[in-house]
Amino acid sequence: MRLSEDAMFAAVIESNPRYDGRFFYGVKTTGIFCRPSCKSKVPNRDNVVFFAGLSEAVAAGYRPCKRCRPDLGPVYAPEEEMVQAALGIIDREFADPALLRELPGRMGVSSSQFRRLFKKRVGEAPRKYLQQVRVAKAADRLKTGSANNTEACLAAGFTNLSSFYAAFRRETGLTPRQYRQVHDQAGWGE
Ligand SMILES: [Zn+2]
Repeated sequence: MRLSEDAMFAAVIESNPRYDGRFFYGVKTTGIFCRPSCKSKVPNRDNVVFFAGLSEAVAAGYRPCKRCRPDLGPVYAPEEEMVQAALGIIDREFADPALLRELPGRMGVSSSQFRRLFKKRVGEAPRKYLQQVRVAKAADRLKTGSANNTEACLAAGFTNLSSFYAAFRRETGLTPRQYRQVHDQAGWGE
């Protein structure tokens, strides 16, 4: 059953733990989101926004409260939600060279927790997964001929050409130049 916003805000005022897992609320002025049971100060109603799930809150740019840890806990399969949210962020922000370092903090967990949970759900370590995404994005650019190697490298979030070449080779078995040639031939029948 869907809760009305009035009912959700009443639960927030009461810090009512019976509503934990049914929704989260974010505070626009701080960019933090909480469980209904959070004991932090009740925000002004106008500044509150409600979310049905963790991934929704994270996708809207909110960070988990350090006090009530809406990203953890027994309710609402938070690990699955957290990993799903992380995958969404990687898909959108792969080009940010600092992403891997910052992601665990953004999800409100330690680096080692993040690695463990990510690997358990995805089957790859976050570093490896991100590298695959970056190589795939760079390969797309090379394929369409819209970028040279340096442009494709930087646009995909690699910080230098040698790590780009190494990763590209590891994932595709080809150098970027070979990859482009193979694709040109396939695409244009030259
Ligand atoms: Zn909180």
